[in-house]
Amino acid sequence: MRHAFPALWNLENKYGSVIAGAILSKLSSKGNSVKTGGALPGKGRNKRVSFSFHGGMQSLIDALHNEVGDSNVKLGTEVLSLACSCDGVSSSGGWSISADSKDAKGKHLKKNQSFDAVIMTAPLSNVQRMKFTKGGAPFVLDFLPKVDYLPLSLMVTAFKKEDVKRPLEGFGVLIPYKEQQKHGLKTLGTLFSSMMFPDRAPNDQYLYTSFIGGSHNRDLAGAPTTILKQLVTSDLRKLLGIEGQPTFVKHIHWRNAFPLYGHNYDSVLESIAKMEKNLPGFFYAGNNKDGLAVGSVIASGSKAADLVVSYLESHTNQDR
Ligand SMILES: Cc1cc2nc3c(=O)[nH]c(=O)nc-3n(C[C@H](O)[C@H](O)[C@H](O)COP(=O)(O)OP(=O)(O)OC[C@H]3O[C@@H](n4cnc5c(N)ncnc54)[C@H](O)[C@@H]3O)c2cc1C
Repeated sequence: MRHAFPALWNLENKYGSVIAGAILSKLSSKGNSVKTGGALPGKGRNKRVSFSFHGGMQSLIDALHNEVGDSNVKLGTEVLSLACSCDGVSSSGGWSISADSKDAKGKHLKKNQSFDAVIMTAPLSNVQRMKFTKGGAPFVLDFLPKVDYLPLSLMVTAFKKEDVKRPLEGFGVLIPYKEQQKHGLKTLGTLFSSMMFPDRAPNDQYLYTSFIGGSHNRDLAGAPTTILKQLVTSDLRKLLGIEGQPTFVKHIHWRNAFPLYGHNYDSVLESIAKMEKNLPGFFYAGNNKDGLAVGSVIASGSKAADLVVSYLESHTNQDR
């Protein structure tokens, strides 16, 4: 809980329970707004809402891509090794990276290109496969613990509105394992995507995003599309009174969807800190470190960028 959902953990830690914490936090935020006389603009400034973008989450990635500039983005490029000259004096060009490019446009990393700092956002299991050297000698990552990842399949289905007899309004349903067993359901939950974001489906249809897999159903996550289509249609029939077959199906399978934040995750974080401490100019960010939600991952990247700026500034001052 502490690492996967830091905001909930903070509530529990501060107030003794997540639910009590959520209520108290809400009450205290109401109190604050009275005290400050609502000095900040916007009535619901503490309100948490689901968010997305026109055209889906890919719009965010495309916007970042445009901002950085196409020539600075290397797609389909697997980092194989990183070398830090690490003379301990200058930050300038201390890092070099070798990569295998499968990018059809053939945009390879330039040979002998060097970098002042590195922000690593690949999952730790991938980092463990990379080769690191420090000052010419191998920097062995045997202190990184093995991280367990949860497999997941995502099924996007659309149904004609007239075939959905109980079209519930809201963001969706989450089905605890006990309820799955009790009612013979197989999905972990379903987002009512077109209820939240109407532009996601034609006017005469509803779009649903269902999740299958997780810790209790690891094998099911890897089942073929035809089987998962049947399971999802059957669950939605029970939940929403759906009749007939979907008009649209898209299946995406993640073998390693989420890092599993177990009881010993502190040791994972300690080993990330050890890497950052022993490799000058190396910073780690992403959902293996700072929480799973997209907002947490964005904050994690932003924090790493600030650390790089401080690192470069402090070394520039030393160089003078
Ligand atoms: C099915 C699903 C649904 C989700 N739904 C939600 C949701 O509704 N709301 C929410 O807030 N969060 C959701 N999440 C969680 C959230 O999307 C993730 O936690 C977040 O996107 C992770 O971002 P990241 O950058 O840390 O990691 P990733 O997005 O996993 O990025 C890691 C990147 O590293 C790259 N990489 C790996 N190895 C190498 C290498 N050797 N060289 C170069 N690159 C490499 C990978 O290709 C990948 O692009 C969902 C996740 C999944 C899987």
